[in-house]
Amino acid sequence: SPKVHAEETYTIGTDVTYPPFEFANKDNKYVGIDIDLMNAIAKEEGFKVNIKELGFNAAVQSLQSRQIDGVIAGMSITPERQAKFDFSDPYYKTGVVMAVANNSKINGLSDLKGKKVALKTGTAAADYARSQQKKYGFKTVTFDDSDNMYNDVTNGNSDATFEDVPVMKYAIKTGTKLKIVTKPAESGNYGFAVLKGENSELIQKFNHGLKVLKKNGEYKKITDRYLSTDT
Ligand code: GLN
Repeated sequence: SPKVHAEETYTIGTDVTYPPFEFANKDNKYVGIDIDLMNAIAKEEGFKVNIKELGFNAAVQSLQSRQIDGVIAGMSITPERQAKFDFSDPYYKTGVVMAVANNSKINGLSDLKGKKVALKTGTAAADYARSQQKKYGFKTVTFDDSDNMYNDVTNGNSDATFEDVPVMKYAIKTGTKLKIVTKPAESGNYGFAVLKGENSELIQKFNHGLKVLKKNGEYKKITDRYLSTDT
C-alpha cells in the first residue's frame, strides 16, 4: 500500500552575487535563474529546499564537508570536480572570457605581461587563468565574490579579470564598466552538484524536474525572466 512521506528538506548552497543566476533584488530577496530553477524543481518533485547564500568557494567547501546537501551556483561541470561530486544533467552553457576596463588598451592575453589580473577563489575561470599565467607572465589577486573582483578592475587596481561569459555579459548589460576581449575558452555547462556517491535520489529528482520544466515551457520562462532583451 502507498506510504505517505513528509516532504524531505534539502539544504542547498549558492553564491552571494552571481547575476543572472543568483543575486539579491531591489527588495533584498534572492532571485535568479538558479534560485527559480531550484524552487521550481523542488515544487515539481515534491521536496523542500533551504537555500543558503554562502559564496561560491564556501558553498563548494560546505558540500565537501557535508554541511549542505547540494550546490547550485553557476557551477561548471569539470573533470576535476567530477572526481569529488556528482552533477545533474547540464542546465546552462558557459565558457571563460577575459574582460578589461572600457578604456583599456589590453586586447587579449598577450597584452598581460607584468599586469595584474583579478580572479575569484575556487572558480573554473581562475583555474583557466592560472593555466595561462606562466606563458603570459601576469600577476594575480583573488577575491571571494564577483562584484569585488569587477570593482578591482573598474577602479584600476587590476588590469583584467576572467569570468564566465553569461555572467560577464549580464554584468556589462546591467552597467558594469568592463568589456570582453577574448572568445570563450573552456566551453562547458553548469550543473547542480552533490557529494559523489551521496544524495543520488536528489540528482535523480533534479534531472527529472529539469526535463519536465524544459518540456512544459517553465525553464524558458525562468531564463527569459532574467535574459529577455526587453527587460
Ligand atoms: N562557473 C564558475 C565555476 O564553476 C564560477 C561559479 C561562480 O563563481 N559562482 O567555477
